[in-house]
Amino acid sequence: MPSSPLPSFLISHFSLLTPRRTSLGILLLLVTSLLALGTGCPAVEQGDFGLNPFRDLAPLPLDGQPHELAYTIAPLGELAADQVIRLKADGPGISAVLLLAEDDQFEPAGRLAGGGPPGMFFEYRVQIPGRHFVFVLFDPQTPDLLRQAALTVMPGEPAFAPPDRQQVLVTFDAGFLTGPGLVDPESFSDEEREFMADIAPIVQEGVVERLRTIFAETPIEILTEGDPPAAAPVSRLAFRAERVLADDDGTYFDAVLPAGMEDRPECQDKVVFGEVLPRGTMVDPGNHAPDDEAAVYVGSFQGRGELCRSAAINSVNNIILGLAHTAAHEIGHLVGLYHVPLADIMNRSPSLAFQRDLTFARGQMLMEGPTGNWILTTVIQDPDFYFRANFGPTLHIATLGSEK
Ligand SMILES: [Zn+2]
Repeated sequence: MPSSPLPSFLISHFSLLTPRRTSLGILLLLVTSLLALGTGCPAVEQGDFGLNPFRDLAPLPLDGQPHELAYTIAPLGELAADQVIRLKADGPGISAVLLLAEDDQFEPAGRLAGGGPPGMFFEYRVQIPGRHFVFVLFDPQTPDLLRQAALTVMPGEPAFAPPDRQQVLVTFDAGFLTGPGLVDPESFSDEEREFMADIAPIVQEGVVERLRTIFAETPIEILTEGDPPAAAPVSRLAFRAERVLADDDGTYFDAVLPAGMEDRPECQDKVVFGEVLPRGTMVDPGNHAPDDEAAVYVGSFQGRGELCRSAAINSVNNIILGLAHTAAHEIGHLVGLYHVPLADIMNRSPSLAFQRDLTFARGQMLMEGPTGNWILTTVIQDPDFYFRANFGPTLHIATLGSEK
C-alpha cells in the first residue's frame, strides 16, 4: 500500500486538495470512514493550513506545464501592470478558477481580481500590479476526497485586453407587474389589479433609474430598449411576469421564502426571485461571456392569498427597490460576483432587498452546498477592486483618484 494518505486527508478536510496518487481502495476506505463519522464535516474553509499560503508557498512557474496542486491556492508571484497571463485548471468538480490579488487589509486572504471557467485556457491582463494567486473553487457538491486540480500558467498574448465595460440590456415583459406579476390571483380585487397596471410605467422607470445609480462608476452600463443598439455584445436582464417555484433538487440559486412569512406554514412556497440562465449557470467568473442572460421573476415577489401578501409590494418604493436590487444581484453574477454574507446586493436573499438602499460591499465569499453555507475566509470580494482589476483601463484611470 502507498503511504497512508490519512494526514493529508485530515488536512484536506479543511482545505488541501487530495493527492492524486490516492488509490481507489484507500479512497473508498476513506469515503466509508467519512460516512461512518456521519458526514458531520464542518464544511467550513478555515484557511487553517498550518501555513499561510498567501505568504509561505513558492510561486508557480509560468512554464506552460500542468502542475498538480496541493492546495486550493497557488501563488503566481509578483505580476506587473499590463502583464498578460494565460491559465487553465483541470480537474473534477472545479466550478471556477479565480484570480486573487494580495489584499492590502488582510494578509491571509486574497481579493477577487478575475477568473474564468474550468477546463479551458483563458487570459488575464494585470490592471493592478502586485502579488497574485489562483484560487481553485470547487463545486460545493464535490466531496473533499475527489478534489483534484492541475494548473497550467504561461505568458499570454500581449495584445489581449479585456473590455472596459459590460453593457446590460434590461427588458420588461409586457404585463410584468400584472400577468401575474405582483397580482395575486387569489386575493386581488379588480381595483388592486388596476392599480398595479397603472403603476407599471412608474415602476419600470424607477427600476432603471435605480439600476443606473447602483452601477454608476462601475464598468456596467444599463441599457433599455429605447437606447441606441450597442456596438459590442450585451448581456440581458429580463423582468418576467411569472412566479417560479424552486425545484427541490438541491440546486442552489437565489431562492428563498418571501420575507416575513417564515412563521406562516400556509405561505411556505419556496420561490426563485432571479437566476442566471440557463438554470444552474450561477456565475460567469471573470465575465468571459459578454452576452449572457439572467431573469428576475416578478411573480415570485407576490405572496399567495390574503395571509401571504409580502411587504415587498406594500409601496411603489418597496416594489422598485425589491426589483432593482434583485436585478442588480443577477447582473453581479453575470459579471463574475459571488454571494457575500452581508446585507448587501450580493446577499443570497433578495427578499431583504426592498427594505433599504443596498450597495456592493467588500466581504468574504459565501458558498452554499448540500450541507449548508460556509464562508471562504481566504477570498475577499471587493466589487470596487474587482471592477478595476478585471475590466479595461478606462475605468481604472477614471477612478484612480479614489484609490483606497
Ligand atoms: Zn445569487
